Amino acid sequence: MEPLNERKDQIHRTGEQPFTLACNKDSLAGAVSQRACVFCGSRVVLYPIADALHLVHGPIGCAVYTWDIRGALSSGPELHRLSFSTDLQELDVVFGGEKKLTAALLELIDRHSPKAAFVYATCIVGIIGDDVEAICREVERKSGIPVIPVQSEGFKGNKRAGYTAACNAMARLIGTGDTKTVAPHSINILGDFNLAGEIWMIREYFERMGVEVVANITGDGRVADISRAHGAALNVVQCSGSTMDLASMMERDYGIPSIRVSYFGVEDMAQALYDVAEFFKDSPEILDKARDIVKGELQELLPKLAFYKEELSGKKAAIYVGGTFKAFSLVKAFRLLGMEVVMVGSQTGTEDEYRELAEITDPGTIIVDDTNPLELTSFLEEKRVDIFVGGVKERPIAYKLGVGFCDHNHERKEALAGFMGMLNFAREVHSSVMSPVWRFTPQWEHLGAELQLLAVNNS
Ligand code: SF4
Repeated sequence: MEPLNERKDQIHRTGEQPFTLACNKDSLAGAVSQRACVFCGSRVVLYPIADALHLVHGPIGCAVYTWDIRGALSSGPELHRLSFSTDLQELDVVFGGEKKLTAALLELIDRHSPKAAFVYATCIVGIIGDDVEAICREVERKSGIPVIPVQSEGFKGNKRAGYTAACNAMARLIGTGDTKTVAPHSINILGDFNLAGEIWMIREYFERMGVEVVANITGDGRVADISRAHGAALNVVQCSGSTMDLASMMERDYGIPSIRVSYFGVEDMAQALYDVAEFFKDSPEILDKARDIVKGELQELLPKLAFYKEELSGKKAAIYVGGTFKAFSLVKAFRLLGMEVVMVGSQTGTEDEYRELAEITDPGTIIVDDTNPLELTSFLEEKRVDIFVGGVKERPIAYKLGVGFCDHNHERKEALAGFMGMLNFAREVHSSVMSPVWRFTPQWEHLGAELQLLAVNNS
């Protein structure tokens, strides 16, 4: 299948032409993008703050769409797992939803005693013009807790704009807490959402190195921790898009530098620990402890990975994820397993990130920005992949084609970060690729013939 003409400049094949890739622009109307809306982008970032109230101001569908959207675990309160909505109806659209919003906020704060409230503006709120900022101010005065508007009207950009809206909302909390007891060797973890308990593993590595973690932003997040995040010496940012804006704001307002890391794959996980140790080089024992952690974990991990590498060697993988930073780590993780990455894409990558992907991938690899189900289907068919890595919207594409799938998105229940996460990843890829179920599905060589037969039988 040929892609739409207007989409062709968002697809690149490594080594087949000089690198150019159009990206970071609105999705093409009618192309049925895999991307989420602005509201969804902000919701996925703020959702794991577990002791805050999250109220979606809009029709019930927006709240249902993002209800319990991440597998983000909490070690304490679980208020984040409830999806509250003002359930705007036709009359509210005509006469405004401000009274309903005020009443809902006051009732929910009274019932659940949250530490803060986030109020998400959705498409319809942007259209009817409710003054969400003024309502939040009024309720904040009455309730005595921070009530923060999230200006995330779904239509006003792409998912990346939602990340910015979430960062703007968190920036209003930061700076309000007491930082007197924060240690000099301290960090904030940004851009990890504690899927399947991953942030607990990462925190433990840092704590074993002697580094204090002030705030998780936002996995297993707490309002009080975020309010004192400006006391940390360093922001350690994972994921290319979601919290980078917050790191920039904190550098501008509080002089806190940041480094970008990834916790996926052996190389990147080790590098993340070394980069933090390097930042605190006034304390050489931090680097010594980081080396000990990496050595100990690898001694345990590498012999176990050898089995999977032997079995999976030469198999082909395709990747489509939210941000490219995760894609870099996945390319390296598949290499470690002896596998070939034949397609890699993301919803929100930038030109520099795609250029870097083109540099690290093999000739012929398809690199794609903001794709859609038909393009993905044709790429998977063309490359005859053995496994597709993506999220909830990509899973049915893989299963319909009869190929393995690995969920690497926020719905997953398996920890894939950290050293042990690499073993879980290898196990999951292996059990999916080698599953006997694919013998009973239309594999590539049969697909054309079976479709023809279907057409004849139906005619
Ligand atoms: S904010 Fe708009 S685009 Fe997003 S879920 Fe709601 S209606 Fe849909």
